[in-house]
Amino acid sequence: MKTIGLIGGMSWESSLEYYRIINEHVKEKLGGLHSAECILYSVDFEKVEELQHAGEWRQLATLMTSIALKLQDAGAEGIVICSNTMHKVAEKIQESLRIPLIHIVDATAVEIRRRGLKKVALLGTRFTMEDEFYKGRLKEKHGIDTIIPGEADRGRIHRIIYGELCKGVVKQSSKRETVRIIRKLAARGAEGVILGCTEIPLLVKQEDAAIPLFDTTEIHAKAAADFMLS
Ligand code: GLU
Repeated sequence: MKTIGLIGGMSWESSLEYYRIINEHVKEKLGGLHSAECILYSVDFEKVEELQHAGEWRQLATLMTSIALKLQDAGAEGIVICSNTMHKVAEKIQESLRIPLIHIVDATAVEIRRRGLKKVALLGTRFTMEDEFYKGRLKEKHGIDTIIPGEADRGRIHRIIYGELCKGVVKQSSKRETVRIIRKLAARGAEGVILGCTEIPLLVKQEDAAIPLFDTTEIHAKAAADFMLS
């Protein structure tokens, strides 16, 4: 089994899910008392969140790269960033590594293509929904078209993520709001919805929607486990 290096704490609420899913997948594949060989570097999210909202992405790239290098030096053979948003600096991190970074967009695209979908909606932080790093990679590398909610709904989702989910708060009212946004996106032609924030699966599940939901936490964690076992 290969050792995986996880950059977590963004937030730790979803890093817990990564740890659980990776271990479950390894146990399922190998049986017995097998569990995942992994190293977790968990950050203080307050500092990261401040830099994100200040637009200090260069500083964030430097910080994430230094963490990834520590994990590489500690014996990690692959890197997983446990956040969609922080993939904004994934290419910069990869440039400094000799081990692969398992990209959340690529893992999600494989799953979307497997289901035969061509046009999906994307829910996540404003950075994920509005910047090009996510939608651009889906289109250019995987031929998948993406739509996003309107301005007001993007603001609502962003606030639910940072104000509630990243603090471990799961509200029924926010769930209803998110389900309403998903319905609107389906009416606009989305064949599926990427839950492109690793905390959103704590709020909405497949049974809440009539179209396929792509749980990026589960997809990414399973891709990490598959890499470890390859
Ligand atoms: N975990 C979230 C994501 O998947 C949001 C927190 C962050 O900004 O990293 O995008």
